[in-house]
Amino acid sequence: MQAGVIAVQGDVAEHAAAVENAAAAHGEPAEVVEVRDAGIVPDCDVLLMPGGESTTISRLIRREGIDEEIREHVANGKPVLATCAGLIVCSRDAKDDRVDALGLVDASVDRNAFGRQKDSFEAKVPVDGLDDPFHAVFIRAPLIDEVGPGVEVLATVDGRPVAVRDGPVVATAFHPELTDDPRIHDLAFFPEREVVA
Ligand code: GLN
Repeated sequence: MQAGVIAVQGDVAEHAAAVENAAAAHGEPAEVVEVRDAGIVPDCDVLLMPGGESTTISRLIRREGIDEEIREHVANGKPVLATCAGLIVCSRDAKDDRVDALGLVDASVDRNAFGRQKDSFEAKVPVDGLDDPFHAVFIRAPLIDEVGPGVEVLATVDGRPVAVRDGPVVATAFHPELTDDPRIHDLAFFPEREVVA
């Protein structure tokens, strides 16, 4: 499996490790490539859109022509895991002119709605499809304020969606790559496969 981490900005190494761990648990080693230029995404089986700064990620993927390749990847039904800033970039509406929302997740988001950096928090969150709650790390997290009818809400905090699935895209307001628990990566990339190890 070739996994591309959109690496123009954000926490790239953590996602690379998490997808490697998830893939190893299925006896299917992942080859991770960092995507900074056009021409790499078409060879990827799965994509990761990391946390970071959505305005910067949006500007750079557009400048490099990676945005259209990501759209094409999803149009072909291939999986994406988008976290935090990645969720903002993948949303339908980020309510910020500096973010060219890709419209891959039918949801609108409020950037930084959970507060400033000092207001970041952690919570044990039950997630559909996981047996035990997930230790979720929220850092200047976006609030998903509205989801379309085709969007499956996988987890909520205070009644607000914090993890959603829209077709091949799983998106979280929190950072699953910052813990050593690969279950969200697993959910995104191996939804129907047995764990062998
Ligand atoms: N609030 C940031 C943004 O708007 C996202 C924060 C994060 O990815 N941890 O891009």
